[in-house]
Amino acid sequence: MSLRSTHADVNLTALQANYRAITSFLTSERSAAGTAPGVIAVVKANAYGHGAERVGLALQEAGAAVLACADIEEAVALRKAGVTIQVLVFGALSVSDLGGVFEYDLTPTISTPAAGRAMAAEAVSRLRPVLYHLKIDTGMNRLGFRHDNLRRTLPGLLSSPRLELDAVYTHFATADDLDHPLFDEQRRRFDQVLAELESMGVRPRIVHAANSAALLRDSRVWYDMVRPGLLLYGVVPAPLATTVTLEPVMTIRSRIVAAKGIRRGESVGYGARFVADEPRTIAVVPAGYADGLDLRLAGRAAALVGGRRVPIVGSVCMDMMTLDVTGLAVNPGDEVVIIGGQGAASITVREVASAIGTIPYELLCRIGSRIERVYE
Ligand SMILES: *Cc1c(COP(=O)(O)O)cnc(C)c1O
Repeated sequence: MSLRSTHADVNLTALQANYRAITSFLTSERSAAGTAPGVIAVVKANAYGHGAERVGLALQEAGAAVLACADIEEAVALRKAGVTIQVLVFGALSVSDLGGVFEYDLTPTISTPAAGRAMAAEAVSRLRPVLYHLKIDTGMNRLGFRHDNLRRTLPGLLSSPRLELDAVYTHFATADDLDHPLFDEQRRRFDQVLAELESMGVRPRIVHAANSAALLRDSRVWYDMVRPGLLLYGVVPAPLATTVTLEPVMTIRSRIVAAKGIRRGESVGYGARFVADEPRTIAVVPAGYADGLDLRLAGRAAALVGGRRVPIVGSVCMDMMTLDVTGLAVNPGDEVVIIGGQGAASITVREVASAIGTIPYELLCRIGSRIERVYE
């Protein structure tokens, strides 16, 4: 079958290089003081839109010891694709999911007392032990056992038959906001939790807390493992910067299907939002919001044609968008890059997200299922 003009190239070699760049950064920073933290590679939400199955296998091949995803369904898809390394499930488990933990050898997160009871009941009826990660809520106020109430809420879980605590973790709400006091507050609360667990005689094998932003900003929260997602895909969460060399993994490409001249005063597209102030050349690209490309790109973002940036004008339609290519010699069939590099020019996920008022995560996750992922 032929490939649609609009597709996403996913560079698995770049992904693996990013994984290795992160592990060598962790090792080099820690070479003086003991062992470097391990990496839990986050592949939830279809690996941030890159395709969880191929990404999971590529990370396994690169040496990752643990993958993490959002729910049992995502974890099962990884197993079915041939992932054999540990798979941690971050999200809350619903009772109907619990069987999957045993059938597919998954590592659940226990984040409420009720979930602990349900998991224990299932483990007892199956005569099987379950190693779990305990989630502590240090201030996100989403999932997790409250940090300040553990002496009351934990004993029941800790004495559950067949449940074995393997790891303890928390998640930061403001790791990408360098001025917000909550990050340090959460860090201090988590350290108190670890001391309290110690005093209760609880010694988890592993402690983890850091997503991409936390990993970059503060090595005190590396503990035994870190949990990068976005960085693996070659995107640094704003406003952070890093010396780690990361390559963007996804390139969204298309082709010009038509080009035409319009006269001064004429408009382009629905709503006639773009009006030519002088004669213009418009190129039509077969990619639109049905591909998950945001309406707000028009008038705010650019694409690359012939190694040059050209503005996206008019309106992003369901299946098409229009570029102002005035002054360029373009022909149907010419390559268009919507995200990624072309020649010396490039358009980054971070830049596009900021132009349309969202975050790189949302931009990547929204790239539609109609856009075929082509692995290289
Ligand atoms: C998504 C997620 C991560 C990874 O976050 P990034 O910002 O992409 O690095 C880490 N931990 C948890 C619990 C998550 O849900």
